[in-house]
Amino acid sequence: MTKNDSLTKQLKHFFGFDNFKGDQEAIIRNLLAGNDTFVLMPTGGGKSLCYQLPSLIMDGTAIVVSPLIALMKNQVDVINGMSEEGGVAHYLNSSLNKAAITQVMDDIRSGKTKLLYVAPESLNKEENVEFFKSVKISFYAIDEAHCISEWGHDFRPEYRNIRPTINKIGEAPVIALTATATDKVRTDIKKCLGIVDAKEFKSSFNRPNLYYEVRSKRNDDDTNKQIIMFIRQNPGKSGIIYCLSRKKVEELAEILRANEIKAAPYHAGLDSATRSQTQDDFLMERIDVIVATIAFGMGIDKPDVRFVIHYDIPKSLEGYYQETGRAGRDGGEGQCIVFYSPKDLQKLEKFMEGKPIAEQDIGKQLLQETEAYAESSVCRRKLLLHYFGETYTEDNCNNCDNCLHPKQKREAKDALVVILKAIKALKENFMQDYVIDFVKGRGTDDIVSHHHDELEEFGEGEDIEPRIWNPVIRQAMIMGYIKKDVENYGLLKLTAAGKRFIKSPSSFMIVEDRDFKDEFEADEHEMTGSALDPQLFSLLSNLRKKVAKTNNLPGYVIFQDVSLEQMATMYPVTMSELQNIQGVGAGKAKRYGQPFIELISQYCKENSIERPEELRVRTVAKKSMLKVKIIQSIDRQIALDDLAQAQGLDFEELLDEVEAIVYSGTKINIDYFLEEVMDDDHVDDIYDYFMDSETDSIDAALDELGSDYSEDEIRLVRIKFLSEQAN
Ligand code: ADP
Ligand code: MG
Repeated sequence: MTKNDSLTKQLKHFFGFDNFKGDQEAIIRNLLAGNDTFVLMPTGGGKSLCYQLPSLIMDGTAIVVSPLIALMKNQVDVINGMSEEGGVAHYLNSSLNKAAITQVMDDIRSGKTKLLYVAPESLNKEENVEFFKSVKISFYAIDEAHCISEWGHDFRPEYRNIRPTINKIGEAPVIALTATATDKVRTDIKKCLGIVDAKEFKSSFNRPNLYYEVRSKRNDDDTNKQIIMFIRQNPGKSGIIYCLSRKKVEELAEILRANEIKAAPYHAGLDSATRSQTQDDFLMERIDVIVATIAFGMGIDKPDVRFVIHYDIPKSLEGYYQETGRAGRDGGEGQCIVFYSPKDLQKLEKFMEGKPIAEQDIGKQLLQETEAYAESSVCRRKLLLHYFGETYTEDNCNNCDNCLHPKQKREAKDALVVILKAIKALKENFMQDYVIDFVKGRGTDDIVSHHHDELEEFGEGEDIEPRIWNPVIRQAMIMGYIKKDVENYGLLKLTAAGKRFIKSPSSFMIVEDRDFKDEFEADEHEMTGSALDPQLFSLLSNLRKKVAKTNNLPGYVIFQDVSLEQMATMYPVTMSELQNIQGVGAGKAKRYGQPFIELISQYCKENSIERPEELRVRTVAKKSMLKVKIIQSIDRQIALDDLAQAQGLDFEELLDEVEAIVYSGTKINIDYFLEEVMDDDHVDDIYDYFMDSETDSIDAALDELGSDYSEDEIRLVRIKFLSEQAN
C-alpha cells in the first residue's frame, strides 16, 4: 500500500471495511493534511479508526494517549491481529517490565511500530520524553479527551500535562477524541491541548431508539420491587443496573437472584478473574442482568443491552449519557430508567464537602444540571441534547416519559420578562440561584453586599409563585433567550432573542417541574389507604382475637393492626410472603403465622382473588448493619444509653430501632438495663398494664400511667413485654 492509494482502498486493505462511517473519512483527511482535529462522536461511532488508519499510512509512530490500561491491550491486539508482522502496535504503561519496554523501544526505533498507546503518566515520564525526542512522531491522538477538563465527568489531572510534554517531544498534529463534552468541556479541551483552531467534527448525540424515564425513589425496598417487576416484564433481556456503592451492588444482585433473576454483581473490589468471568457470562447470555458500579461498561461491546437502570442519580449528566449509551447500540430497544430522590442529591453534595472549594463548586453545578434534568417536565431528549450544545426541534420525541405523558403547559410571559430584566440589571454577572433570590426579593448577605437590594428590579417577582423560577430559567435556555457563559461557567447571559423579548414580549409557554416531595407523600397515602379488603381484614381480626385468647395475650402482641391491614391488602399465602408484611419477622411468622396464611389462602380461593404481583418479590434475609450491631450489643449487655451514643443516635432513635427489632419478631433481653435504670415494682406495674391493655399505643399508656412514668420507661418495658410475650 502506498500513500496514494485511495483511502477507501486502504480502509478495505487494513480493516476489511467497505465504507467509512459518519465523518471518518473527512476526519482522516484533515489529519493526513497535517491539521489539528477535534472529534466528538458518540460511543460506538468508530473513533479509534480515525487515528488507527492514518497511523498506518503516515511516516513515523503515532502516540495515542488513553486512560484505560485494559482497553490499550485490547486495541493493540486488534491492530496486531490485522498484520502479518508483530509489533505494528504497542502499549507503554506501568504494567510493563524492563525487558518489555526495551522491546517496545527497539520496535519503534526500527520503524516497525506505527501506533503506540500510552497512559498519560507514561507519556509525561522524563526518560520516555527523552526517547520520544529521538524518533519520528507522526501525530498525537488524545482519546477520551474529556478527561482533560475539570468540568468533565472523568477528570484526570495527568491529562493536564499533555501539552507541555508534547512541546518537549516535538510538534506534530494533534487529534482529540471524545464521546461526551458540553460546550464548556469542549472549550477546555481545545485550550488545554493548545489546539484552539482545530477543525471540529461533531456527530449528533441523539439516540432516537433510547427511551428515557425518571422514576421517583421512595426507599430502597420500593425501588428493589420496582426493578424486579420491571425485569419480570422484560424477561430474557440483557440489562445493566448501576449503583453508586459496592455494598448496594452486592445487596441488589443478591435480591435479584433470590427472585430467580439471573444476575451478577460487578465492581472494582472483585478480583479480576471473577470480573472477567462475569463479563463473559453477560456477553454469552448466561446471565441477564449485571448490577454494577460505573466501573463496568467501558470497553464492553454488547450491542443488544435492552435496559440500563440507574439505582441512584448520577453525579453528572455526561456520566448519565455515557452510561445509558450502552443500551440499544444495535439501534433496537433501549430503556433507560433512573430512580431519583432529592435526598440522594443532597447526599452527593455532602460527600463533596471534604474536597477543595473549586472542585466543590464544579461538582455542585454539575449536580444542579442533573437535578434540572430529573425534575423537569420537558422532553428528556431535548434536555440532554441541549446539555451537549445541540438543538432538538421536535415538539414530542414520543420516546420519553415526559413526552408520553405530557403536562399541561402554562403561560409564563411575565415571569420571563422579570427574569430577563433581572439578568440585565445584574450585568449578566451572576448564576441562577443568585438571580432567583434577586427576583424573589431575598436580601441575602451576598445580595446586600453587592447593593443589589437597592436596584429597582430587586423583588420584581415577589408576587409570582416561587417554584416557577427554575423551570422558567431552564426552559428559557432551551428556547434560546438565556445562555450560560462558557468561560465563567454558570453566569447567566442574555442572547439577542432574550434582549428582544424584553422589548416586545410574546407568549412563553412552559411546563412546571415535577414535585418529587409531593409525589412521595401522595404515594404514602395510597399505600395505607386504598386497596384494603375490609372483609378479609375483619376475618383476620377475628382470628387474631381467637389466637390471642388461647395464648392469654392481648391481640396486638400476635400481630399489630398495620400488619393485618397489609395482609388484607397483599394477600400473603406462604411463609416467605408473610415475612414481607410489615412488622412480621421470621420468628413471628413461625410462631403465629400458619393459621393466618391458611385463612388468607382459603379466602382467595373462595373469592377468586387475583393477588398483586408485588408480594412475590422476595427480600433476602437481611437486617441492616445497624440492627445487627444493636442486637449484638444487647447480647453483650451494653447499657442502652452507651449503645445509642456509640452508634451516634439519640436515645429515642435507638428505642425506635429496638422496637422495630422486637416488632418484627426478634427476641431480645434488656433486663440487665432495666435493672440498672428502673425500680422492679415500676417495671411490673407497666408490664401488667400492657398485659391487660387492648392496645400497645404509647399515647394510651401515657394517659393511663403518665403521671407516674416517663415515656422512655414505658417504651422500655413495652420492649421487654413484646419480646417475652410476642416473640
Ligand atoms: P468508539 O471509540 O467511537 O466508541 P470504536 O472505535 O471502538 O468506537 O468502534 C466501534 C465499532 O465500530 C468497532 O467494532 C469498529 O470495528 C467498528 N467500526 C469502526 N469503523 C467502521 C467502519 N468504517 N465500518 C464498519 N465498522 C466500523
Ligand atoms: Mg473509543
